[in-house]
Amino acid sequence: MATIDLNNLFDKGMELHSIANTAYPLTPTSLKQYALKNENEIQKLLEKEFHAMNELSLYVHIPFCKTRCKFCEYVVVSGSEFDLKDEYTDAVLKEIDLYSRIINNDKYIAGFDIGGGTPTELGFRRIEKIVNKLSKTFSLRSEQVWSIETTPFNAISKFDELKDIYNLGFHRISMGIQTVNQELLKKMDREGNAHLYQKAVDAIRKAGYTQFNIDLMYGFKEQSIEDFKSTVEYTVSLAPEYITLYEMRYKLTQIAHDALDVTRAKVNSQYLVAYEILIQNGYMANYGKNTFSRIKNNHGTSDYLTSRVTKATPYIGLGAGAQSFGVNYLAYNQGAATKSISKYIKHANNGSFPIQDIYDLPEQEIMAKTISVMFYFGFIDLENFRKRFGKDFMQMFKDEIEYLKTWNLAEIKDDMFILTQNGVSHMSGVIPMFYSDRSKQELMNINAEKLLK
Ligand code: SF4
Repeated sequence: MATIDLNNLFDKGMELHSIANTAYPLTPTSLKQYALKNENEIQKLLEKEFHAMNELSLYVHIPFCKTRCKFCEYVVVSGSEFDLKDEYTDAVLKEIDLYSRIINNDKYIAGFDIGGGTPTELGFRRIEKIVNKLSKTFSLRSEQVWSIETTPFNAISKFDELKDIYNLGFHRISMGIQTVNQELLKKMDREGNAHLYQKAVDAIRKAGYTQFNIDLMYGFKEQSIEDFKSTVEYTVSLAPEYITLYEMRYKLTQIAHDALDVTRAKVNSQYLVAYEILIQNGYMANYGKNTFSRIKNNHGTSDYLTSRVTKATPYIGLGAGAQSFGVNYLAYNQGAATKSISKYIKHANNGSFPIQDIYDLPEQEIMAKTISVMFYFGFIDLENFRKRFGKDFMQMFKDEIEYLKTWNLAEIKDDMFILTQNGVSHMSGVIPMFYSDRSKQELMNINAEKLLK
């Protein structure tokens, strides 16, 4: 494969900033040459993986939302499948059973999250069933920060259940506000207002949560810098422990075509404005990190996510469309493509792993995905990289690092590879430097108009 000039690669990443981001691979079919098709092969791969693994995290996906926000990139069901909560819960329990046959419960569980969708939409009893089953199968550790997600509506209407969920062991909770711009909310098929948010925050506090995160989004076509500033200022007034800023990732959303009208300069300015407000108000994060915390020595993310981003700890994703990332494999459960749960339920009921796609990946691909995810925090811990891959990051990417240092895009400090402020502003040019040879070529050949149509 011909070597691609780093300048060209950087420029292409910048041009395709809504594609060359922390989400890897570039398209749902990018890795198809590594796909396993045969049940036997899949079983063997999973057995081999979990035999060798000492540590892993768990994630359960709950895909229910009353309505689907237009910017949502996740597997979410509303409409007729919204009432299949019992069937879905049973399917998750069956999936846990399948893993229990190939994983000993002596593995160290580094973190546990329930995400969505809207997990609290499932109701306490069903959540409890899943947690009880997981506790029997894995050595879940209550001293860790388990995290769950809710919506402002759920936080108010399901207050008693929120308390029960806290008592079950979830001491971190995350709630999405995204934006306070009413017009933008309407365009995205989402509801919300200041009165509702305040009531939701009061309910969350009353239920006992002291590790509370609010999610915000930026990078929308119709969202000005001033507009995002108001959202951040308002959110600070609600005083959550953590605030997470998500840059809009357009791939696979109903508004993918909007990406072509959003400039990198606007997105960078929105992040900068938010960063300054948050730092002034006592929230902490290195420039480029998306979760800000006002608690000292606390990343603000759950143990599951912190471990996944900083150490590349393998994780099993349970539930429809959930992603699993092992030592040498990547898999997506049934539902990832269809954004529906019926196939997932059917597969689990048939007693086979409800996996839609599974890839046995070469090291270059595993590394590319790992590094893309590490950029969530804006830095790579070089010691953690050595532990994960048994290789030296500086040696492996000598030319790329030299290039990034020359252009003041990254620096090395205290055994960390850190993006500079300039590097964060050019993140989509930086990330492709660490892609596999295959995905570099793929990026160079992408036509944005076609991909985001
Ligand atoms: S509430 Fe969250 S998960 Fe549900 S549709 Fe909206 S963005 Fe997606």
